[in-house]
Amino acid sequence: MPINIQPILNLMQSILQSVGQVNNLLPPSFIAPPMNEGIPPYTEMAIPVPQPPGITGLPPNVYFDVSTRFNATQKQKITDSINGVLFNWYLHMTQKWNGGANNGLSQLASCTNTYATKNLRPLWYRGVAITNGRKATEVAMDQFTQIIKDNGFRKSPKARIDWTYNRGITTMRANTAIGQTRVPVNIIVNAYQLDQSNVTTGLLLGSMFHAWLHRAGFTDPKTTSYFISECPMCAMRGYQVKNPALPDNSFYQFFD
Ligand SMILES: [Zn+2]
Repeated sequence: MPINIQPILNLMQSILQSVGQVNNLLPPSFIAPPMNEGIPPYTEMAIPVPQPPGITGLPPNVYFDVSTRFNATQKQKITDSINGVLFNWYLHMTQKWNGGANNGLSQLASCTNTYATKNLRPLWYRGVAITNGRKATEVAMDQFTQIIKDNGFRKSPKARIDWTYNRGITTMRANTAIGQTRVPVNIIVNAYQLDQSNVTTGLLLGSMFHAWLHRAGFTDPKTTSYFISECPMCAMRGYQVKNPALPDNSFYQFFD
């Protein structure tokens, strides 16, 4: 089955063009948060779920209650970043399925296996010891499947995308989930960071991916060698090897 990796390549290009520049900007003058009196605090957004082969019982959509304090442009960036997470999950599942053998090594798992050596186990996990990044990636992506099913069939509480605004580097923040089922994908998003032109779609994808891994039960620190950093950074690099000219913190500074 041919797989379109152009979206990943586009993300990688956008990242390579932007990292290293993000600390050079002066903060713009503060923009007062929009008032939302008289309108609902959230509106529901449905995002179609790509359907990888070999995975049955997937819902057609996942749903998010998005704060109405985000403007249309900000909301689109949130949507794009969730689509990026779903694309990486879809591609991993497709490559692992391997035409039916279900033994494939995905690009995401291969890349992560090279770099992730620490905090490979989600909090809820009680199975056979996870000793490498490939297995951790497979557990994480299977947990994404669980989260997608629980969300799409409305078994979990409504997932909320909450608004915050501060001029710090905080981009997207999620608490680490303890449980394995019915976990809502609750994320707080910094509208200030969404407004920065050099915080690209690719960087936002990585930030969202890191947040989803927290909801999948994986823990910080968000530094080199830890699964919760290395796996999203592989996605942000389009699964390529690390470039010494681009230090890891130019990526994981966008993780919370
Ligand atoms: Zn984190």
